[in-house]
Amino acid sequence: MKLYNTLTRKKEEFVPLQEGKVSMYVCGPTVYNLIHIGNARPMIVFDTARRYMEYKGYQVNYVSNFTDVDDKIIAKSIEEGIPADQVSARYIEECKKDMEAMNVRPATVHPQATQEIQGMIDMIRTLEEKGYAYNVNGTVYFRTRKFQEYGKLSHKNLDDLRSGNRALQVTGEDQKEDPLDFVLWKPKKEGEPFWHAPWSDGRPGWHIECSEMAKKYLGEEIDIHAGGEDLIFPHHENEIAQSECCNGKPFARYWLHNAFLNIDNRKMSKSLGNFFTVREIGEKYDLQVLRFFMLSAHYRSPLNFSAEIMESSRNALERILTAAERLKELEQSAAGEKLLEGEQEKLQEMKAFREKFEEAMEDDLNTADAISAVFELVKFANTEAVPEGSREFAAALGKELSELCGILGLKTERKTEVLDQEIEEMIRQRQEARKAKDFARADAIRNELLEKGIILEDTREGVKWKRA
Ligand code: AMP
Ligand code: ZN
Repeated sequence: MKLYNTLTRKKEEFVPLQEGKVSMYVCGPTVYNLIHIGNARPMIVFDTARRYMEYKGYQVNYVSNFTDVDDKIIAKSIEEGIPADQVSARYIEECKKDMEAMNVRPATVHPQATQEIQGMIDMIRTLEEKGYAYNVNGTVYFRTRKFQEYGKLSHKNLDDLRSGNRALQVTGEDQKEDPLDFVLWKPKKEGEPFWHAPWSDGRPGWHIECSEMAKKYLGEEIDIHAGGEDLIFPHHENEIAQSECCNGKPFARYWLHNAFLNIDNRKMSKSLGNFFTVREIGEKYDLQVLRFFMLSAHYRSPLNFSAEIMESSRNALERILTAAERLKELEQSAAGEKLLEGEQEKLQEMKAFREKFEEAMEDDLNTADAISAVFELVKFANTEAVPEGSREFAAALGKELSELCGILGLKTERKTEVLDQEIEEMIRQRQEARKAKDFARADAIRNELLEKGIILEDTREGVKWKRA
């Protein structure tokens, strides 16, 4: 399998450190709010990478953290008047619900920064002992100039950065030896969560968190480190500096970065009013549609989100589900039982789609082309599986379709359950129809709901509903 490595800027053949095993670290979200659809992109694409590697027979140790100590979490805790750990605990729970709805499997381990402070302190001490860290009034900085390879991931011109950063330096930072030095430990401010450490009562810098959690759960040298492209600099550059100087070993061998998700061709941001949480999208669509949409582009291509593209993703996914449903029916009802004449050859022909699928995934996880291969299989199944054929043939096609979709984390069974939100909306429309004395429409809506297994009851307190 070939993977594009940000470190070397090349597609490279993937060779794991240990045969048959993959260690993979994916930077997870800061939990101060519901996750947004941008956060969902690394979750979905790297979950798909994991599924594909498992399909190939690798045992994947997949670690993804929750950053649960951060300025934004503290701000939220002050705003709501509750402790910071309650804020993060709440959003970790919510994040896990969203992940499940997107069919993103839980990581092997989901470490939380606040549970790993001692390990971070130990790493910072080692860096200090080796001369890579210095303490100024309780703040500990990493000495970037001492690490000759600093900048190797982001391929940036460090001298330009240094002079640029000097101009931008904020007050209080002039105590740094070099503008590119970054914080490993910082003293607490009034009211902030803190831990005791040799330098001050305070908390770790963001970058050291991931270095420590990767080391603890995967080892000093790991196969793959991944995240969104915004993390290349400074986050991942700094992780490399800390880990390699502390451990005296190369850190991650392959660095994978997904491109950004934009909305209507603009950067997603709260102030532009084009900001969506996964939860909001889940009220309108089955989140499988969001997953399908994310995988319909290569993970290194920028991806544009819009209402139209979600509609076409829904329709495309629908074609797969319809084909799968039809194959299920034929598996029960087709004329023949065992393979009929000619069907064996057709099954040989079918193998071409899996080959195409694998070829795409082998080429730096090209899910867009892998999905095209799935559609070719759908087309083939729609023409070749017929009522006059055999049940065995329909079953073989159905199995193939569900296996290929499964590697992408797409379920081929149609979700029959309607969302509460949809039901409420239909009830509202029925009430409106009744008010307008359009009883035919009101009845039609009632019947439509009944078909979905929803029973309405008109009570004195209003309309109540239950699932049949
Ligand atoms: P954060 O909570 O901001 O640390 O982000 C968690 C993960 O989501 C990181 O891997 C980010 O790179 C990624 N991410 C954030 N915004 C976007 C976006 N608009 N498109 C793609 N990935 C994103
Ligand atoms: Zn990280």
